[in-house]
Amino acid sequence: MSRTIAFLGTGLMGYPMVEKLLEAGYAVIAWNRTREKALPLREKGARVADSAAEAIAAAEVTLLMLTDYPAIQEVLFPGGNLLEVRGKTVIQMGTILPEESRRLQQAITEAGGDYLEAPVLGSIPQVREKQLIVMVGGTGEQFRRWTEVFRAFGSEVHHVGEVGQAAATKLALNHLIAAEAAAFSLSLGLVQGHGVEVELFMNILRHSALYAPTFDKKLPRMLSRDFENPNFPAKHMLKDVNLILAAAQEAGLSTEMLEGVRSLLETAVHSGHADHDYAAIYEAVVPPRK
Ligand code: NAP
Repeated sequence: MSRTIAFLGTGLMGYPMVEKLLEAGYAVIAWNRTREKALPLREKGARVADSAAEAIAAAEVTLLMLTDYPAIQEVLFPGGNLLEVRGKTVIQMGTILPEESRRLQQAITEAGGDYLEAPVLGSIPQVREKQLIVMVGGTGEQFRRWTEVFRAFGSEVHHVGEVGQAAATKLALNHLIAAEAAAFSLSLGLVQGHGVEVELFMNILRHSALYAPTFDKKLPRMLSRDFENPNFPAKHMLKDVNLILAAAQEAGLSTEMLEGVRSLLETAVHSGHADHDYAAIYEAVVPPRK
């Protein structure tokens, strides 16, 4: 296989995603704003570009794994003008609003390029284990054309619908991540506050219809209050909750519950947990005893 893929954004997710593409036999030209973060990828066989424009020019397809829409704008539209994308395919894989994704589609298509979205569910361990879930928003033809590339990240590759619909699905799923973390924190705090054995509580929960595997994933961090080495930092969870609030308000849905979750995340972020795992929401729900 000799297809070359350009990859912009080798952060927490992007870095191991590039590794997976290399493992699958693709040639990768990676670019990252902070170049040092991308450099170790050279030892694994990737080329590291000096600029986003250089990476895009060197490949038929460019994958984006950047923080948010403003970051994408800074990278793709330096000084307000879109980089040369004529004849190129751009695939946006970060978490952004459906509307933002459609705006990218319009600009890139007008410039003679092709655009689709492919946000992902799962975090660093799922990338490493090749178990990311990829949700594709685009035409059936685009889906068929790029499925093989997405399979480098995991076998669950879903064609959700047109551009914007996969972005909306990703936000719907991340809403559950945030809401479940907040709800589980409160339940845990309640039983702890009443001296109930946590393992007994967990056993009852695990055998009930209320259980979600994410509870056991986050339990050790919450019990030890150790939120270092995040898979998904609290600041990005807060970014996503703000996107979900915007999308829900636009759709005329009640966001009262989610506003509470946002306020808890803000407390966690502003008390030193911005770059810690989002399980640190527990600290806001169950403050440490003085
Ligand atoms: P991250 O580690 O913070 O990486 C963000 C990337 O964006 C870095 O490469 C960063 O470059 C780049 N970036 C940010 N602002 C930029 C700017 N103004 N100009 C150029 N580059 C910029 O985040 P991540 O966890 O990999 O997440 C990336 C995206 O995937 C986000 O949309 C996130 O919501 C989504 N996502 C994350 C997870 C997860 O579990 N972590 C799971 C699914 C989806 P520097 O290195 O120079 O800062």
